[in-house]
Amino acid sequence: MAAVLCSCGKDHRYRGGAALDDRPWLYGKKIFIDPGHGGRSSSDLFRVSRNGQAEGEINLRVAMFLSDMLKRSGAYVSLSRKGDSDTPLDERLRIAEAFSPDLLVSIHHNGSQHSCDGVNYPSILFWGSVKTSPASYDLARLLKSEFERLTGRSAVIASDMIFFSETGTRMLSKTSGICPGIIGEAGFFSDEKHSIELSDKVYLEREAEAYYEAISLYLKRGIPSAELHFSCGIETRGIMPNLLSDCRPSMVIRFYSGNDDRCIDPSSLRISLDGVPVSFKKILSDVYQVDYGKELYPGIHRLRFVFRNTRSQSSMVSQAHFSVPAKKGDRACLIGRGRAGLHHSPRNSLLMLLSAYSLGGTDPGDERLVGDIAKGFLMIGDKNSADFYRNKLRLYYTTNKRENFSAVELSERLIVDFHGKKIQCFASSVPSENKGRKSSKIAKNPAVTTGIFGIFKTIFNRH
Ligand SMILES: [Zn+2]
Repeated sequence: MAAVLCSCGKDHRYRGGAALDDRPWLYGKKIFIDPGHGGRSSSDLFRVSRNGQAEGEINLRVAMFLSDMLKRSGAYVSLSRKGDSDTPLDERLRIAEAFSPDLLVSIHHNGSQHSCDGVNYPSILFWGSVKTSPASYDLARLLKSEFERLTGRSAVIASDMIFFSETGTRMLSKTSGICPGIIGEAGFFSDEKHSIELSDKVYLEREAEAYYEAISLYLKRGIPSAELHFSCGIETRGIMPNLLSDCRPSMVIRFYSGNDDRCIDPSSLRISLDGVPVSFKKILSDVYQVDYGKELYPGIHRLRFVFRNTRSQSSMVSQAHFSVPAKKGDRACLIGRGRAGLHHSPRNSLLMLLSAYSLGGTDPGDERLVGDIAKGFLMIGDKNSADFYRNKLRLYYTTNKRENFSAVELSERLIVDFHGKKIQCFASSVPSENKGRKSSKIAKNPAVTTGIFGIFKTIFNRH
């Protein structure tokens, strides 16, 4: 067998026992592997194990074995670095974006301050929350099982907002709109006993196998995707994104399971317009029409949806932004109608108020409007969104002293909703409602489609 060498001179040809050539679901898939650190960071004392191995080198060796395995299964692999080099994060992100992968794994190893404290367990990080990154969370859960099989230790899945409470890690947050991604840390290189294992090529091959098996199972379940279609012309004018030529267009979503089953799980489908849940009806197999009401109101809108295929693999959270032209007086009219109807028709009235808000932006006179929107969300039973707008009132409209806001205490920071991202951390156990779910993908570029959607135009911005 030919040697697989990297610039460190070591052979990284995988010689373990995993079957690599009978997994057609890996064929042609694009996997981005990011071996963490390298270069100058290898001399950081806190990234060097007791027996002198740098974390960056261990990460690279596992990444190279994994790359070899995936390539031999027919996958396309891109690595953020292939040697012991300093590769800035921006450069890694640039390579990932240019590659446009189906999924991303960033390989790291954990370290604690004291080499003799016996701390050693596997952990997996994903961006944001289960709500914002359901597909990455699915991948994390598969890797968790593999890490536990590898190490015999209970593994932890955590939001990367544990470390960067507002944004998460740049590697995962910046790629969250491209593909599902995780950061894996199979163990602590700082642990004396484990550092001996990490210097063993066979152990590193087994660690690469853990990633390989998780990726393989994930891709076998399929990456769900979807296309959103409008039955009207779309153009971009000024700051108005994807301006619709009609305020009553048919809005249709075509779903793809990502595997041979050809089906999505209809009970998993959730669609919202501007944060307000909307209904939908099936018009063909895996094709659904969005029921947004009588019309789309003037302003900027966001359609958001998420679903799972029949193998419980979750899609990424998909968002499309579009606008309906507004004329003078529309905003005041929407506020008046929305406010008047809030009690007998809260959902539709809330959509009017949100449309008005999108037209006003940061208008300092919006204080009452923001309060009404919070009230509207409470009326439709969405306390999280209500709190978001109430906190906005508290933070940006400080003249309002009447409301008794549920102020966010600093101690609650890790569980607060931040721009709709509910931050959660799961240690070893998985909430029962999430059991058995899996991954995603959506049409990447605005496009005009043909076939049954011949008259429809498509827009898409994946979040
Ligand atoms: Zn690291």
